Amino acid sequence: MLRVLKFGGTSVGTLERIQSVAQIIKKFRDAGDDIVAVVSAMSGETNKLLEYAEHFSKTPNEAEVDMLLSSGERVTSALLSIALNEQGYNTTSMSGREAGIFTTSEHTYARIETIDTANMQNAIKEGKIIIVAGFQGVSVENSRVTTLGRGGSDLTAVALAGALQADLCEIYTDVDGIYTTDPRIEPKAKKLDKISYEEMLELASLGAKVLQNRSVEMAKKLNVNLVSRSSFTPEIEGTLITKEENIMEAPVVSGIALDKNQVRVGMYGVVDKPGIASSIFTALADANINVDMIVQTVGLDNKTNLDFTIPTADVQKATKVMENFKNDSQKIDYNDAICKVSIVGVGMKSHTGVASKAFTALASENINIRIISTSEIKISMIIEEKYAELAVRALHDAYELDK
Ligand code: ADP
Ligand code: ASP
Ligand code: MG
Repeated sequence: MLRVLKFGGTSVGTLERIQSVAQIIKKFRDAGDDIVAVVSAMSGETNKLLEYAEHFSKTPNEAEVDMLLSSGERVTSALLSIALNEQGYNTTSMSGREAGIFTTSEHTYARIETIDTANMQNAIKEGKIIIVAGFQGVSVENSRVTTLGRGGSDLTAVALAGALQADLCEIYTDVDGIYTTDPRIEPKAKKLDKISYEEMLELASLGAKVLQNRSVEMAKKLNVNLVSRSSFTPEIEGTLITKEENIMEAPVVSGIALDKNQVRVGMYGVVDKPGIASSIFTALADANINVDMIVQTVGLDNKTNLDFTIPTADVQKATKVMENFKNDSQKIDYNDAICKVSIVGVGMKSHTGVASKAFTALASENINIRIISTSEIKISMIIEEKYAELAVRALHDAYELDK
């Protein structure tokens, strides 16, 4: 069978760890499988490179940032290939370009357009284990190297699994599967055997970085058999991310996610006239800023207040955009001491009282909720950041997720 295996930053964080990863690959190879491994940069490496760039510029040229960051995963792909080769295995490393990953030219968050699998197919035919540098591709338009957004090696793995029609895509990380919430926050969190693509996509989009959200979206679209498991305990089976109908009875709430990388933008005393919201959010969208929760309230004086959240990484860009709307309101402020806690579950669709339970749980801890938004399978709440972990544990208890 053809396996795509992805190893994240901590899994390849030291030379010893790279050697352990080589052992995992060898075992599958010895059992007769074809292997395409995708690797991240060694843990901390991407952040270090970003700091180097920021030493010279607060707004470095994004094409150069991609050139810089893509080097991190190339280091690990070559090292892992060298390690396996030394042990008698026929291997080849590949950059994103060599693996045929063609993308848009939106540097630092490029989208995959097509994958030309010819190089990989040839290497597999020649009996080679392929080690692909994750998180990168090459722009169709101008041939420059691009990267796929933070956590993007997950996306590389899923996309390659889809393009090569692999039997399985296993994402190896430092936890042995998907838990009801981040086990580092709630030690009572329970590992799930299975979770639906839909729920995993929500959890990932709402802050559970165990899988990159775009990778889950692609896995769902291409029907990739996706497994999350640990490279530290490879003998333990992980969590299968699969179609909803493959899960016998979905719990009402499957998991809780926390996102601290959110900033609340408040715009007060906005003149209440048609077109204001349209022009603000169009301008933000044009600047590629991902606006999430939006609340608008009209006061007695016919002035409105507008509250919305954006990713912390986009604050600089958003401040610039909002400059243009200064004259439309009395005040604009930015609060980064907030976070978003969310509960996710497909079972919510058919149950009542799910939301009120969450509000009661937070109220009993004296946590004030600033913004609420709901959809069919999720409820998100903006609260003060200092209550983040407390809120996650309170909600975990309220829905008895440890049972
Ligand atoms: P990698 O470097 O392998 O890509 P990440 O650090 O991106 O790994 O993701 C793994 C981390 O995700 C875990 O260490 C864990 O703290 C965190 N995490 C957040 N939510 C969950 C969850 N629901 N289940 C498991 N891990 C989670
Ligand atoms: N090295 C990149 C990051 O830290 C990509 C990845 O690890 O998936 O975001
Ligand atoms: Mg990751």
